[in-house]
Amino acid sequence: MDFKNPDKYGYYGDFGGAFIPEMLHPNVEELENKYLEIIESKEFNKEFNQLLKDYVGRETPLYFAENLSKKYQTQIYLKREDLNHTGAHKINNALGQALLAKKLGKNRIIAETGAGQHGVATATVTALLGLECIVYMGETDIKRQALNVARMKMLGAEVRAVTSGSKTLKDAVNEALRDWINNPTSTHYIIGSAVGPHPFPDMVARFQSVISQEIKLQLKAKIGRENPDYIIACVGGGSNAAGSFYHFVNEPNVKIIAAEAAGLGLESGKSAATTQLGSLGILHGSQSLVMQDNDGQVIEPHSISAGLDYPGIGPFHANLFKQKRAEFLSITDEEALKSAFEITQMEGIIPALESSHALAVLSKKKFKKDDVVVITLSGRGDKDIEIYSKNRDF
Ligand SMILES: *Cc1c(COP(=O)(O)O)cnc(C)c1O
Repeated sequence: MDFKNPDKYGYYGDFGGAFIPEMLHPNVEELENKYLEIIESKEFNKEFNQLLKDYVGRETPLYFAENLSKKYQTQIYLKREDLNHTGAHKINNALGQALLAKKLGKNRIIAETGAGQHGVATATVTALLGLECIVYMGETDIKRQALNVARMKMLGAEVRAVTSGSKTLKDAVNEALRDWINNPTSTHYIIGSAVGPHPFPDMVARFQSVISQEIKLQLKAKIGRENPDYIIACVGGGSNAAGSFYHFVNEPNVKIIAAEAAGLGLESGKSAATTQLGSLGILHGSQSLVMQDNDGQVIEPHSISAGLDYPGIGPFHANLFKQKRAEFLSITDEEALKSAFEITQMEGIIPALESSHALAVLSKKKFKKDDVVVITLSGRGDKDIEIYSKNRDF
């Protein structure tokens, strides 16, 4: 089975497709017809790769974590997406999509954001490329993420408060989709994760696939082989994980582990572990696994990390789960906090709370002494310092 590419209808096995209102068809169709030709062109890649290098700061290091390796008796490498400009992997995708929008002749960009990280990445690249930027954000999130709101505004974006529903991420997505329907010709919607109607999951995975492309080259240079024994990443919607897994999914010898946020625990009613708690449903334009009640109403997710606090999972990952190509582990808030303090004190790296879920896999699973274990550190922890300092006793 090809785990990397969706079929021509945008399906990864049973998951994906484009479930959108009639009025969105022209936008999505235009994108579907043109995205591959543009992003595979020489001209696009020259510009994209140059900016990834000089502006984002790629390639990011693949760091051998000696102290962690000693403790866990295995060979641990960290893929340092935290060292990207703006502090996380999200800019890889935001930059790719903003360049694509320009090629499509669209000068108005909209985006949704929960914690504000995708909003900041989008506002950053639109400032760079001279594009108008409107970011939809739930009112609740605006209050929780004041610093990121200030960053977006300073970068020149307009932040629009969403007051419907729970006033959080999923409501912001709905509002952005509404905007897109109303502004089909001028506007491109930069979705921030490997979710949404086809072709978004594939497009986002391709823009993030630079992560696994670099890992291959870096491993080859360091240990003489391209493939690790394990690749591990955290999954919210699934963009950093899709990018980390991309060039390995069709390599059966590479074991894949996805870390989902269990929140307060799978049985607590306060969780975001979609593969464990979700069922087949439609969310934000694609068919995938969704946390929902018997009437198909979305269940409010919970995670201590805002970036994993999402009631769905992208179709790429739903398929990896169903086909058992990847192992999905649920990591609680507490386990993630514990790992964050451990890596900070042992390696001098303060990780994002999201990334700490991937790191926590180290204490959940036994690896062999000579296993090469690559963990994607999706972002840096500056944004989470308040939460960390409130939980210092870990
Ligand atoms: C947004 C975010 C995530 C989760 O999003 P994915 O699309 O699943 O990657 C993970 N880590 C960081 C640092 C983030 O900002």
